[in-house]
Amino acid sequence: MRRLVEICGDENVFWRAEDLLVWEYDAGFDRRPPSAVVLPGTTEEVADVVRAAHAEGASIVPRGAGTGLSGGTIACADAIVVSTARLRRIISIDRVARIAVVEPGVPNLAVTAAARDVGLFFAPDPASQRISTIGGNVATNAGGPHALRYGSMTNHVLGVELVLPTGECVRFGGEVADLPGYDCVPFIVGSEGTVGIITKVWLRLLPLPEDVRTFVAVFADIEHGARAASAIIASGVVPAAMEMLDRVTIGALNAAFEVHLPADAGSLLLVEVEGLREETADWATSIERILRKNGATNVRSAETAAERELLWKARKLGYAALARIRPNNYLHDAVVPRTKMPDVLREVNAIAERYGYVIANMFHIGDGNLHPVLLFDARSQPIDRVMEASAEILKVAIDAGGALSGEHGIGLEKNHFMFWVFGPEDLDAQRRGREAFDPDGTMNPGKVFPGGDACADIPTERTKRALAEGMWV
Ligand SMILES: Cc1cc2nc3c(=O)[nH]c(=O)nc-3n(C[C@H](O)[C@H](O)[C@H](O)COP(=O)(O)OP(=O)(O)OC[C@H]3O[C@@H](n4cnc5c(N)ncnc54)[C@H](O)[C@@H]3O)c2cc1C
Repeated sequence: MRRLVEICGDENVFWRAEDLLVWEYDAGFDRRPPSAVVLPGTTEEVADVVRAAHAEGASIVPRGAGTGLSGGTIACADAIVVSTARLRRIISIDRVARIAVVEPGVPNLAVTAAARDVGLFFAPDPASQRISTIGGNVATNAGGPHALRYGSMTNHVLGVELVLPTGECVRFGGEVADLPGYDCVPFIVGSEGTVGIITKVWLRLLPLPEDVRTFVAVFADIEHGARAASAIIASGVVPAAMEMLDRVTIGALNAAFEVHLPADAGSLLLVEVEGLREETADWATSIERILRKNGATNVRSAETAAERELLWKARKLGYAALARIRPNNYLHDAVVPRTKMPDVLREVNAIAERYGYVIANMFHIGDGNLHPVLLFDARSQPIDRVMEASAEILKVAIDAGGALSGEHGIGLEKNHFMFWVFGPEDLDAQRRGREAFDPDGTMNPGKVFPGGDACADIPTERTKRALAEGMWV
């Protein structure tokens, strides 16, 4: 502890039990207090902290804003949490090269705003973008509504500076395209803090589109909306974003915020196209025709920027609004082939009904990313049963040819399901890749890989504590 204080100063090191309380959880379910929390202010301080921990054989958990939904920041193995809260500088924005260089603790929306100031556009837009950090976005390969057209973080990270578990500082990629040697950047993107601490990121910026058009279509139910979404993609138009809200979410949003969504809608499909004016005009005509042909009872386009913003506000506040219905929820993140969406949704809703949970659906339908949310009250409904229902939901998605996570990562939440999608050889190859960076397994231990992790007792602990104290999120 003394060494950490020497490196970062007394005010940036926390170790008393009462101070650690707020660092023992993130936006997922698991909890475990770290042995200490340290907030370095420079890359050099990060490297010194990691070196000091390494010398003591202590584990480290990198942490951004703690909005992760898969338990990625939980301090297994009595780890020290290294927070990037003080690494919040936008180092440069090069308008001509269209590159931003930022520290990991910068919130996503700050990059979006800084890019916009010089007429550029940063595409990844997780619904958590007001708070989640670029470091966390890189480490989880975050997506968002606009991932449909622009891809997730991996398509927008040009380079990474990384402090390795031994304290060495390395850099992969940067301004120059196609460097020789192995391209380690895509390996680091999505590595969930298991290979090192990201201390600087080179991000791709795009030109702002000339025109943006946003439609909202009303359907009698979620299945009709899902079929319309598939029909739009099949027509060859690739919208920038395509999002679905179901009846439960619409009701919660109208009750919680002044968003004025059509109260009688069984589902709403939000479709956005962007590009040159001539392109968007053509696409708008096709989209409207396809929506109506597939059962839309009403199609409206946002007439003003304010109206468009209101629609996006509604989409991004959906999760928060659900607290009106039940105090607790469990948000899933499986991804399925788009054509299987209507069938999978039917099965998912049937599972929720069989278990007796209210279910809300709001998701990135364009890229097949399901986000069913089970709503419950942890004071009277045991978490274990929620987990059972969740495992069934995941199984349905996997059986339909899907994947465990579209964007939230594996963390602690889904590492025991990795066997469902990877064989032992696949997992072993991935593990060896990780060990090349972290041979001692001290960087975010217990995450991503199934079995043998130091947090294996968490599910039982979680149930007991959640029931006794009520959930925090
Ligand atoms: C309301 C809500 C909406 C959300 N919407 C979306 C969405 O639309 N799309 C989406 O993808 N996700 C979404 N999320 C999930 C979450 O916001 C993302 O996973 C986000 O990228 C996490 O960023 P963070 O800064 O909070 O990271 P944290 O939660 O602090 O950390 C997440 C993981 O990244 C690692 N990490 C963090 N910083 C670093 C670093 N500097 N170096 C190495 N590893 C690091 C951590 O160890 C951990 O494994 C949402 C969450 C909430 C609560």
